[in-house]
Amino acid sequence: MTYLANPARYQHMQYRRCGRSGIKLPAVSLGLWQNFGDVDVLANARRILTLAFDSGITHFDLANNYGPSPGSAEETFGKVLKEEFRAHRDELIISSKAGYTMWEGPYGDWGSKKYLVSSLDQSLKRMGLDYVDIFYHHRPDPETPLEETMSALDLIVRQGKALYVGISNYRPKEAAEAIRILRELGTPCLIHQPKYSMFERWVEGGLLDLLGQEGVGCIPFSPLAQGMLTDKYLRGIPNDSRVAKKLGSLPESQLTPERILQIQRLNDIARTRNQSLAQMALAWVLKDERVTSVLIGASKPEQLADSLRCLENTQFSPEELVNINQILG
Ligand code: NDP
Repeated sequence: MTYLANPARYQHMQYRRCGRSGIKLPAVSLGLWQNFGDVDVLANARRILTLAFDSGITHFDLANNYGPSPGSAEETFGKVLKEEFRAHRDELIISSKAGYTMWEGPYGDWGSKKYLVSSLDQSLKRMGLDYVDIFYHHRPDPETPLEETMSALDLIVRQGKALYVGISNYRPKEAAEAIRILRELGTPCLIHQPKYSMFERWVEGGLLDLLGQEGVGCIPFSPLAQGMLTDKYLRGIPNDSRVAKKLGSLPESQLTPERILQIQRLNDIARTRNQSLAQMALAWVLKDERVTSVLIGASKPEQLADSLRCLENTQFSPEELVNINQILG
C-alpha cells in the first residue's frame, strides 16, 4: 500500500535550535545503529521509520558501518527513502558518519581525508542521495592531524556532498580545537554527538559548557543506556532484547545487581511522575537546554511510541533531581 504521511505530523513534536545555526532539530531523533541491518526484518524497520516521520521526527542518524552487516542500515534507509519518503526529502535531516573500521587496508578507518571522502561517496550511493544534511567525523583519530580531518569535512561541504558537519565522541579539549579549526575554515561545526544518559555523565565535566559557549548543538546518543534505562530488564532478560541478542554492544555483565537496583529505584520515581522509565530518562537528558535532541534507538514501533511521550513532561522538581542523583551515586 502506498504510504501517505500523517498530515498532523508537525503538531506534537518540539523543535529545538541546533546551537547558533539556522537549523532546528526534533527534540527526539531516531538512530539506525541497530535494528535496521540486513539481518533485521525490513517490514519492521519500515514501520518504525514511518511511525517516526508521522510523529514529527525529521532527523535520522546513520553511519557508514551501521547494520549489521556494515553499510546495510544505509541501504535499508535508502529503500524506505525511495519507496516511502520520496516526496519528503526536503523535510528530512539525514546524517551519516565515518571514523570506525569500514573496509580493509589503511584507508578504511580513522580520520584521513582519503577515508572520509571515499566513505561519504559510498554512503551516498547506498542511500541513493546526492548529499547528506550532516556529516560527522565519528571518533577522534590520535594519529591524523586534526587539521587534515577538519579540512576533509570542509572539503565535503564545499563539494556539496554535505550541508553541515559535526563531530562525535570528541572530549572537550579536542572538541574545542576541532570547533576552532572548522570556524577558521569557514565551515562551522553544527553539532557534537556524545554518549550521555543518567548512567554516563562525562559530558557534564566541561563538554556541555563548551558547546553552550561556542553555539554548537548537542545530540546525545544512547540516552536509554541501550535499553537499561527502561523497565525491560526488571524481570529478567527478554529473549528479543539487545542483551539476549549477543551482538556485543550490551553485554549481560552490565546488568549487575547494583545496576538492577538503581533501575528499580529510578522506575519508582518515574511512576510518581506518571512516566515510564524510558520517558523519564529521555526527559532527564532533555532538561538541559544545551541539548538539541536526544538520539534514540528502537527495535519496535511500540518502543518509539512510548519514548516519544517523554515530551509530555521534561520538567523536574529540585527534590526529584536530588533523589535521582542519590540513586545514581
Ligand atoms: P538507546 O539508548 O535509545 O537504546 C535503544 C534500545 O533501547 C532499543 O534498541 C531497545 O532495546 C530499547 N528501547 C528503546 N525504547 C524503549 C522503550 N520505550 N521501552 C523499552 N525499551 C526501549 O540508543 P542506542 O544505543 O540504540 O543509540 C541510539 C542511536 O545513537 C544509534 O542508533 C546511533 O544513531 C547513535 N549512536 C551513535 C554512536 C556514536 O559513536 N556516535 C554510538 C552509538 C549510538 P531492545 O533492542 O533490547 O529492544
